[in-house]
Formats: sequence, C-alpha cells, structure tokens
Amino acid sequence: MLEHERVAICIGERSALPVIVAVHSTLLGQAVGGCRMWRYRDWRDGLEDALRLSEAMTLKCALARLPLGGGKSVIALAPDSELPAGRRRDAMLDLGDAVNSFDGSYGVGEDVGTTAEDMLVARERTRYAYCLPESEGGAGEPSEPTADGVCAAIAVTLTRAFGTPELSDRRIGIIGLGQVGARVARRLASDGARLLVSDIDVAKQQLARELGADWIDPDAVLAADVDLLVPAALGGLLTAAAVADIRCAAIAGPANNQLAYDGVADLLDARGILWAPDFVVNAGGVIYGSAMEFDGCPREEAIARVGAISGTLDSIFDAAEEHSVTPLAAARQVAHERLAVARRALAERR
Ligand code: NAD
Repeated sequence: MLEHERVAICIGERSALPVIVAVHSTLLGQAVGGCRMWRYRDWRDGLEDALRLSEAMTLKCALARLPLGGGKSVIALAPDSELPAGRRRDAMLDLGDAVNSFDGSYGVGEDVGTTAEDMLVARERTRYAYCLPESEGGAGEPSEPTADGVCAAIAVTLTRAFGTPELSDRRIGIIGLGQVGARVARRLASDGARLLVSDIDVAKQQLARELGADWIDPDAVLAADVDLLVPAALGGLLTAAAVADIRCAAIAGPANNQLAYDGVADLLDARGILWAPDFVVNAGGVIYGSAMEFDGCPREEAIARVGAISGTLDSIFDAAEEHSVTPLAAARQVAHERLAVARRALAERR
C-alpha cells in the first residue's frame, strides 16, 4: 500500500535524467529531505530509495520534535556512469523545477551526491531549496552537526552496551569515510578509540594512515572483531546474512536505512546486538538546518539543539527495555503517536 502523500517522477527536460520526488508526510509541516544523486541499476531502484528515505525523514523529524514532515528526492544516474560536468547544472535546474511543482509542500537540501553549491543552482528555479552555502546565508554543509549527533548517539549506545561512554581503547569499526564518516573517525580517534575503517574508495586509506587506523576490506568489515560498528556509507547493509556474521555488541551510525528490511531489527535483538535507530542517530543535520534556516537561531544555539539526540535515544532504549520490543519498534511507536496527535488536530480544524 502506498503510504506517501505524493510522488512525482519525470525526465528532466534539460538533463534527460529521471528526477523523482517523494513526499511521505506533511502532517507535522513542510516535508524536507535531501536530494540523492546516485547510480542505480534501474531508475525503479531510485524510486524505491526515495520512498524509503522519505518515510525515514518523517520518522526523523517526528522524533526530533521538528515542525517538519518527510520527503526525499532522487536523481537516478545510470550504473557506472559519471555525470559530465556540463550536465550537473542542468540536473540541478531540473530538480528545482520538480521541487517547485510541489508548491512548497516539499523542501530540498543536499544528500549523498549533491552539495550546498548544487542547492544554489536549484534555488534558481525554486525558493524551496535549502542548505545553501554559508556565504549565501544558508546553513551550509550539514555533515558537521550530523557528526555531532552521531558522536552523541555513540556515547549513549556505548553506555547501554558497556556501562560507560569511555572511548579509550574501545574498538570501533567505521564503514564509509565520507563527509560524516571521516568527521566521526577523526573525533573518535582523538578520543582514544582504536579504529578499523573501510571504504570502497581506496584513496581513503590516506585518512586511515593519518589517524593511525587499521584498514579493512568493505566485504569483511561487518564481521570484524570490534565493540561497535558505525555504518556511514549507504543503506541496506544489515541483511539477515550479515547479522549472522556480526561480532560487535552495538551498532550506531549515520547511514540512512541501514536495515535491509524492518525484520532485521528482530534478528539483531535476538543476537543481543544493540541497534540505535539510524533516523534518530543521524538527525543532527536536519535539527541544525531547521534551527538556522527556519528559526533564525545563532549557530551556537543550533549546535546545542543537536545535543537533544542523546536524550531521545536514551528514552527509546528505555522504552524498548520496558516493553520488551526492539529499539526500532519503540522509536516507530513514539513517532506514530506524534503523527496521530497531528492527524487528530488536523481533523478537528477541518
Ligand atoms: P558521502 O557520500 O560523503 O560518503 C559516503 C562514503 O561511503 C564514501 O566515501 C563512499 O566511497 C563510501 N561507501 C559507499 N559504499 C560503500 C561500501 N559498500 N562500503 C564502504 N564504503 C562505502 O556521504 P555522507 O554525507 O558522509 O553520508 C553518509 C551516510 O549518512 C549516507 O547514508 C547519508 O544518507 C547519511 N546521512 C548523511 C547526513 C549528512 O549530513 N551528510 C545526514 C543524515 C544522514
């Protein structure tokens, strides 16, 4: 059953690329979510990504108590193809047109494969492009506050699993050394963690050397002998088969949609592996961006708001324990209660 309020798919008139916009929910406010520009075997896989990622944005905003809904867009590139430089601008103008056709019910920002500069191009076609560069008065690169939130979530998760947030000599595996993963790696290394890192891009070995981290092949990292894993690449990595091989006690990272399907949360639970729901862990960017661009907060206040992730995650772990459910089920329950309140209020106003 389609749960989304509206989904639009078009071929960009300039770029000739599939541009997909999915709005999952506007119950709490304007649907927000970044634009992922990525290679897909088939554009339908991009559609699937947009549908799942937009639902996760609804949960993320609800749990972060933001007056925002969930949406996402995808520009689907062909497998093994790079976007020629000249077509990037075309793709962003097409994105701007697609976003604008939602009349403000969806606002776009950056995601994997897009940047704050790209949003500036999309802005030429719609006022609903956010996360603009700081030099243009926007919130800028969200990876820094996202990494703040991830590190706060790691501390909460370690405390649950080991009784202490202490990082010294803790063995941590990081999957993906991109914008967020690299920042998290630097912070964990400087706090004394022993890192095992992995990326499909071997150029990232340079950062591993710089941090004194061990390098491991991406195919082997999930089964590595570590205390905690930090998924910071793409989604779907936690499959039933992968869970059988995992040796860590806990998982907390920024990658969206880490679970291949919801039932994987039960498999993790059955193996005694504590999983921090990704849509709670990675909310730092949207919390910060909303504070800066919608509420006009000074930077210090916006950063301070990201700290709320600790309390949110703690209360989800509490609820999961109390009701003997997985953290995923507990988090969904809280989000759905907030959405139900908004739905009732809307019905009363009509
Ligand atoms: P990024 O594109 O900068 O980095 C991703 C990294 O993962 C790249 O270095 C890539 O080479 C690597 N990678 C891809 N597939 C891999 C694999 N199979 N094994 C190992 N490495 C692999 O992306 P990012 O901005 O750092 O985001 C990382 C994740 O966090 C994404 O899932 C994103 O949706 C999510 N997220 C990011 C933010 C943010 O503020 N950037 C906010 C919320 C969620």
